[in-house]
Amino acid sequence: MKVAKFGGSSLADAKQFQKALDIIRADKERIFVVPSAPGKRFSGDIKVTDLLYRCYDEAVGGGDALATLSQIRSRYEEIIEGLALGDFSLDDDFREIEEHIKTSPEKDYLASRGEYLNGRIMSEALDYAFVDARDVIFFDERGLLDAAKTKKHMQEKLLKVGNAVIPGFYGQDVEGRIKTFARGGSDITGAIVAGACGVDIYENWTDVSGFMIADPTIVKDPARIETITYRELRELSYMGASVLHEESIFPVMREGIPINIRNTNAPADPGTWIVESTGQKPKYTITGIAGIRGFCAIDIMKNMMNTEIGFGRRVLQAFEESGLSFEHMPTGVDTMTIVVREKDFVAKEQQVIAAIHRLTDPDTIEIETDLALIAIVGRGMKRESGTAGRAFSALADAGVNIRMIDQGSSELNIIVGVEDADYERTIRALYGAFVGTPR
Ligand code: ASP
Repeated sequence: MKVAKFGGSSLADAKQFQKALDIIRADKERIFVVPSAPGKRFSGDIKVTDLLYRCYDEAVGGGDALATLSQIRSRYEEIIEGLALGDFSLDDDFREIEEHIKTSPEKDYLASRGEYLNGRIMSEALDYAFVDARDVIFFDERGLLDAAKTKKHMQEKLLKVGNAVIPGFYGQDVEGRIKTFARGGSDITGAIVAGACGVDIYENWTDVSGFMIADPTIVKDPARIETITYRELRELSYMGASVLHEESIFPVMREGIPINIRNTNAPADPGTWIVESTGQKPKYTITGIAGIRGFCAIDIMKNMMNTEIGFGRRVLQAFEESGLSFEHMPTGVDTMTIVVREKDFVAKEQQVIAAIHRLTDPDTIEIETDLALIAIVGRGMKRESGTAGRAFSALADAGVNIRMIDQGSSELNIIVGVEDADYERTIRALYGAFVGTPR
């Protein structure tokens, strides 16, 4: 059994939709299909979900929501006509949505219609059952996924019908209202269906042939990642690689189901496999490189800091009091550095500094801004000696000054902090060192 989730660009118009249908029909194991809403057809186009949010804003803010709705409707009509679906129409659905807009517009309900309507078309075209996500995905009082209830309902409904289309992105809250996940949340729906039904593979169809080792806007034609573990992917997405929706890893990770990222426009490409663990030797020492700009480091100095029990706790308390989470904490004998995201820190800067003074009585505090963090991630690093040396000499050769180094004890990543201006140079140098010269 496979779950096949299709992203917005894979279903943006009739032509793309047809490709998705051909892919599903080509493998009878693709029994559960999770569609997104129609995405962009060309650069500058507007996603249906964005039009739906606009529709909501207009409905509550006094704009012409019905005009926007008819723009949305024409997107679906083009798909229905292009797929030659005969008498099939979404008239009743649009009447219901119009009524909703006129009476009591709800943001999540409206946003969810993009997936809902695509699901209706998909189920008609494939002759698969339509299972509304509101009947199988449930949120609890806190607005978090109610995993147990969801699993129970999914198993009852989906395993019984055999083939089904389940629209992505939404479910039902405790009051019976539609609630959506965060943007990009159809990935989560696909993962939940895969995890709950215990399928063999979760296929995630998109418009690229998998993940690249580094950002293609920085490194020209980077190599593809063939296989990556869940843990490595977590590290990379935390460090800024925009891949799958973060939360979509957990439902499948728990069940050990592999995710296969595939390209709707190049279905023969093997894509990238995301797995729990693998005996396959990675092709390169590192699996991927990712980075984020905009960090700052707060250096706290105090002589004999090392003898003060609880010093570290009190420093962190100063950040906690301001509701700030920290990313890294390199230390020296008499110094401690806390690395935080600049955008969160600036507004609370003086409050935090005052709290550090009050709680720890330091000799000096210095703030360094414009720090970029870059991570090299890879399960292969553990077994190999010299990885750090290779990275650092590549950076030295490229004239990059390293301002911070952090290696996790899992040896899954090495993080370097550099000047913001050196960000791209650092990524290119690391790529060159590890991928430009294969082992
Ligand atoms: N349609 C939603 C969005 O644009 C969810 C998704 O595509 O995954 O965010």
